[in-house]
Amino acid sequence: MRNHAPLDLVPRLFVRWTTVLLCLAGLVSIDASAQAQTVPFRFIIDGQDISGSDAVCGPRQLSVNVFVNGVGELRNFPGCTNPAACGSPGTFEVYQVPIPVSQASVPIVIDISERDDPLCGGGDDHILTANLTADLNTGNINGGLITFKSDGSVDQSTFLVATTSVTGLDGFGVSFRIETTPTRICSTWPAAFVDSGFGESGLPGLGPQRAPASFASVVLKKGTSVLTAAGQALDAEGCLDVHTFAAPGPGGWTLEQTSVLRRGGATVDVRRVAPGFRSQPPSSNFDLGLKFANSSALTVSTVVRPGASTTIGARPHVSGLDAEDVARSAAVVGRALRAGLPLAAGSTVTVFAGDGCNSPGLATDSCASGSILFVGPATAGLPPQSQWKFIVAHEFGHVLQAVAAADARGEGYPIINGLPDVCECRHVTVANQYHCLQSLEQPGDVRKEGFAQFIAARTFNDVTDPNPTFVYYKEFLVPTCPAGATCTPFNGGFSQFPPVGMSASRPALWRNRNCAGTPSLATEFDWMNFYWNVTLPAPNSVSVEQLFAVDRAQGTTIAGNDAFLALAATVMPMAQAVAFQVAGDRFGVSSDTSVR
Ligand SMILES: [Zn+2]
Repeated sequence: MRNHAPLDLVPRLFVRWTTVLLCLAGLVSIDASAQAQTVPFRFIIDGQDISGSDAVCGPRQLSVNVFVNGVGELRNFPGCTNPAACGSPGTFEVYQVPIPVSQASVPIVIDISERDDPLCGGGDDHILTANLTADLNTGNINGGLITFKSDGSVDQSTFLVATTSVTGLDGFGVSFRIETTPTRICSTWPAAFVDSGFGESGLPGLGPQRAPASFASVVLKKGTSVLTAAGQALDAEGCLDVHTFAAPGPGGWTLEQTSVLRRGGATVDVRRVAPGFRSQPPSSNFDLGLKFANSSALTVSTVVRPGASTTIGARPHVSGLDAEDVARSAAVVGRALRAGLPLAAGSTVTVFAGDGCNSPGLATDSCASGSILFVGPATAGLPPQSQWKFIVAHEFGHVLQAVAAADARGEGYPIINGLPDVCECRHVTVANQYHCLQSLEQPGDVRKEGFAQFIAARTFNDVTDPNPTFVYYKEFLVPTCPAGATCTPFNGGFSQFPPVGMSASRPALWRNRNCAGTPSLATEFDWMNFYWNVTLPAPNSVSVEQLFAVDRAQGTTIAGNDAFLALAATVMPMAQAVAFQVAGDRFGVSSDTSVR
């Protein structure tokens, strides 16, 4: 049995909407200056349900009266002649109206009747009336729904939150959505790197540039009202979609961007340490507690103004060396997170930008300790190490490994003497001589360092790049000085001044070619090549998470290189483990010293 609306349905509806419109006119404030500037707003009914209980009245067809921002239209939706098979067919009824850019919400009224043609029992059936509001800041549709009984009296009156459909007593209804054109705000950090432009695809610009502020925390405000959700961060590209037409007003929108990076529940907090609490002289403070207590993230504000384009570029102003250290470090770490490198939800990493290692012998250098990363000021006269993106990414690699696999321990970098010059670091002057790309190192140390170099390479090169570039930041000892390079003669060879670009993937076999007779030791260079190649997308390749699983399989004992390669068999399928071990020989990190 169906309800039966009176015969004069249509005239009554128009009388009713006149009343509604008078009310709406009072609700919507349209200031005169913005009135000329409008944007399209689309309300789309994309589904209808006509599978309800109207069994006796023949064909079914919804008669839908929609008012969007006060503009009304009555439409008869596609009908259905076989009540047993009417179901919920899709529809695509678009109601497009221009709305002033100053408007923050759009009133939408939906009134649905079921047409009976010929009238069944005296008139059409009044199903529901929904009085909704689309919030253009959130994209949510909220509002009141009234459904009617067969005698025309009210069945239910309910309030809907974030709704996408309305349905009446007999199951008839519609589903809908709104389409706005979001404003995309893409923000940046100012950066300047000296180890750029060697063929790597990530942040390749040399000197001052703008780097995407990937994963930076942001708060977007219009005046004092906040348009973003709590804990909002930019996406991998450094962008934020704002679903609002709300005009910025004379003050524009304010984007507050903070050097606290958030990705998937993990946090990387990039901080500036007050000068009196840094490791480097004159303060020589190595107290971590004091560093935390006397440091803070950097927040910069910038005004953004929507214009003709749907994308706005934001260029927050950062001034002063300390703040620039933070901005550059945040740019590099954001790039590493963008590369998809694993950092588990719930993890927190701290980056002390512009502060050297908390160790007396390394007070101006960069290093990592557990989940803490120091980006040092460098030796006096050299560019701060935050200008060396491969250094920052390298230290972040140490942190990623330490957070995921505390068992990846090292021996503390004992300097191994008595080796050929090209297998030691005596030529290094720009940073410490404890280890370098070409030096033979103990197994735990060398795997940690090779892994960190690999992470730096992954940060700035796509895995699909056939010729990935690694840019080294200490001197590299070579037999002949390459054209265009700056070199210093050293014991018959040449110490090439950094930055030194080289292939991350091509097997250097540095130990096997240069450092005979030391099969238990290896070089960072060879381990970097190994890690790069075993993680490339290919049959039996391994993920970075699986590399961490091998690290953890060591337990508290540092495994020799052969034993480490063999541990793969305990944490991954045999075919992968075999490929892992074979690669150990191929890249010169096992005890196999042959040059192939
Ligand atoms: Zn390192």
